[in-house]
Amino acid sequence: MARPLLMIPGPIEVSPAVLDACSGPPPSHVSPGIIDAVGVAIARMREVWRSEDDSQPFILSGGGTLSMEVALCNVLEPGDRAVVVHTGYFSARFAEMARRRSATVVVVHAEPGETADLSRVHAALKAAPTKALLITHVDTSTGVRTNPKPLCELARSLGTLSIVDGVCATAGETFEMAAWGADVYLTASQKALGLPPGLALMVASSRAFSARHRLSLQPPMSMDWRQWLPIHAAYEDRRGSYFSTPNTTLIHALRVSLDEIVADGGIHGRIARHQRVADELRGAWSHLGLSLLCVQERNAANTLSAVRYPAGVGPELISAVKARGVVVAGGLLPDFKAQYFRVGHMGYVTEEPELLRRTVQAIGEALIACGHSCDVVGAVAKITG
Ligand code: PMP
Repeated sequence: MARPLLMIPGPIEVSPAVLDACSGPPPSHVSPGIIDAVGVAIARMREVWRSEDDSQPFILSGGGTLSMEVALCNVLEPGDRAVVVHTGYFSARFAEMARRRSATVVVVHAEPGETADLSRVHAALKAAPTKALLITHVDTSTGVRTNPKPLCELARSLGTLSIVDGVCATAGETFEMAAWGADVYLTASQKALGLPPGLALMVASSRAFSARHRLSLQPPMSMDWRQWLPIHAAYEDRRGSYFSTPNTTLIHALRVSLDEIVADGGIHGRIARHQRVADELRGAWSHLGLSLLCVQERNAANTLSAVRYPAGVGPELISAVKARGVVVAGGLLPDFKAQYFRVGHMGYVTEEPELLRRTVQAIGEALIACGHSCDVVGAVAKITG
C-alpha cells in the first residue's frame, strides 16, 4: 500500500526540494555550503518573522519545547513574575516551565475553544511588575488562534517582555514582530516552516537580549543566547565557528524551505494561501455536518482544524480515516480529547489541492463507515485550489 498522507499538525508533508535537501551525506558545520546556508537562513528568518534589523535569530538543534525553554531561561530568573495567557495544552506547558524557573506565575485562563479576555490580561499585568507575558499564538490542542498584536502592544506599553510560542503558527499565521513590539517569537522546524522535526528556531528582540544580560542566574550553557550569539554572528559574516555541532543536514534544508517561503509571493503570500486553504477546509467540514472546537470562526487557526466528532462517532474515526490512506490526529486537550480530532493543513500541502481533496474524501468516507451520513462529493468540491 502507498505511504499514507501525513495530515497531523506536525510533523507534516514536506516539499520535494526540502526532501531532496535532506538527503545525502551530512556536510561539515564549517563547509562553505553550510556557512552560506546559516548566513542566508539568519537573514531570511528576520524577513519571515518581520523583525527589526537588530533582532537576533537563533537556530538550535531541538524541538518546540526546547525553543520555549530557551526563551524562558534567557529572560526569567527566580523571583520574576510571569503572566501566562492560557489557551490550552501548550500554554499549560509554558506556565509549568516558568514555575520550574522559580518565577511567580499568574495564569489567565480562556474557556476551551475560546481566546482569553484582553481586559483580564491587562488586570493581571497591572497587578504587579511583570517580567514576561507568555502567549501561545496557535494552541495546537484547540485549533484556536490568539491575536498576539494587542497582547504584545499591551506588554510593551507596561514594560513587560512578550514571548510568543509560534510553533504551530510561524510562516502560516500573520506575525509582525517589529510592528507589534514582540520580544521573542519561537518555533520548531516541523510545522508551517515545512521541514522535518529537529530545529528549534527563535528570534529575540534587542530588549529581550538586554534582559538576558541583566540576569544574575545564568541559563544552562547549551541554552544560553550569549553563548550562541558569537557563533551566529560569525556565520552571518560568512565565517565558520563552533560551540556545539549543529544539525547541518536540517540547516541545509532550512535554507531551501525559507527560500521557498520568500520566493512564493513573500511571507504575506504564503500566509494568505494558508488562510484560503483553511477557509476552504472549514467549508468542507461544515458541508460534512461537522463543527469546530474553536467557538468563534474568526479565531480558527490557518494551520490546523480541531473538529468535533458528530453524534454517534468517536475516536474510531481516526483508524477509519487511516484505512483510507490519510493520517489525522486525535484530540489533545485533557478532559475533551475524546470529543474531537485534528487535521493539520500547513506547508507543502497548502500548494497541493489534490492532497487536500484526498484528505476531505478520506474523512467523509470514514464518517459514512462510522454511521454518519454526509455528502462527500459536495465536501470535496469545496476545495477549489
Ligand atoms: N508549542 C506548540 C504550540 C506546539 O504545537 C508544540 C508541538 N505540537 C510544541 C509547543 C512543542 O513542540 P515539540 O513537540 O517540537 O517539542
